[in-house]
Amino acid sequence: MRVYLSRPDITEKEINAVTEVLRSPNLSLGPRLDEFEQAFCEYIGRKHAIAVNSGTSGLFLCLKALGIGPGDEVITTPFTFIATVNCIMMTGAKPVFVDINERTLNIDPDKIESAITENTKAIMPVEVFGNPADFDRIEVVAKKHNILFIEDCCEALGSALNGKKAGTFGQMSVFAFYPNKQMTTGEGGMILTDDKHLAELCASYRNQGRGSHSGWLGHERLGYNFRLSDINCALGIVQLSRIEEFKAKRQQVAGWYQQMLADISDLTILQTEDGCDMSWFVFVIRLPKKFTREHRDNVLGQLRERGIQASNYFPPVHLQPFIAEQFGFEKGDFPITESVSSRTIALPFYNNLPRDQVDLVCRQLKEIISKITP
Ligand SMILES: *Cc1c(COP(=O)(O)O)cnc(C)c1O
Repeated sequence: MRVYLSRPDITEKEINAVTEVLRSPNLSLGPRLDEFEQAFCEYIGRKHAIAVNSGTSGLFLCLKALGIGPGDEVITTPFTFIATVNCIMMTGAKPVFVDINERTLNIDPDKIESAITENTKAIMPVEVFGNPADFDRIEVVAKKHNILFIEDCCEALGSALNGKKAGTFGQMSVFAFYPNKQMTTGEGGMILTDDKHLAELCASYRNQGRGSHSGWLGHERLGYNFRLSDINCALGIVQLSRIEEFKAKRQQVAGWYQQMLADISDLTILQTEDGCDMSWFVFVIRLPKKFTREHRDNVLGQLRERGIQASNYFPPVHLQPFIAEQFGFEKGDFPITESVSSRTIALPFYNNLPRDQVDLVCRQLKEIISKITP
């Protein structure tokens, strides 16, 4: 038997919605695009939504629209998916890392101020694994220092902090719809903002620099083709309409894991903080401090041998060779990220993961851990 790390949740409703687009003449820039964007505005509670072909494209366009480029610094976390940092580097700006809080796994609000310089233009924090903890405090620091705030909420669709939804914290925010995210469009992303000018800029960049009135062959600026087709949008409309169902299913699977793993001493499981309404992205556990990276990799290898897919979310971004080389980062620069990263395991996690498979994963994991004595 194989236990998969992730699976999308696609029903006949999604298949029918996609088929309907395929039977129409409008495969791109058609009615499903507007509909998908409108549905997002309503769900998140923001004025403008711009659908793009990936979360990465969305984050890059936000930085471009906010005028970030060479000579600027953007503060972010080294404990994230590489795309967060790639987008900063794609603009020519410099990523400046701030270490994480060991409990929340998000950028540590207490350490942000000491990283701000006269070149700091923006902060781009990430709700890692869907956790919005501390985003209210990051917002306060950004306002105090008058720096832009771009929310990489690619892992947090459906989360909220004290009733404030993920996607409403920064001037601009971006969700992503790769098949392992809470909802999927196959590939895709969504930019959200309340600023009309920024929204128009992103819509223009997305579509070859076309202006809203310049016609098909009038190009007002250097643009890209980051459009999301109506086929993807149709899938997204149905998936978004099911988001509360998805959240509940994921909450249930997370609950099973929490219950079944509770008796392994010293194992750290992400706890939701007061005020956090967590929309789970992946389910990670952290091995005790006495375990090294080699021990962790051994556990991962043994899980895989037993047909259980598991992963090392996330290796520290500052130690990815091309980034370490370009900016001179070394081991030890962000010790909390490195320590957490070396002991973390993402377990199989998706909407319809059956309870007996969660049980199997937990039993196997317990057996493997008990045989490894660091
Ligand atoms: C998934 C993800 C992205 C990028 O999404 P893509 O759609 O794959 O480009 C960006 N940031 C974070 C934190 C992510 O998890």
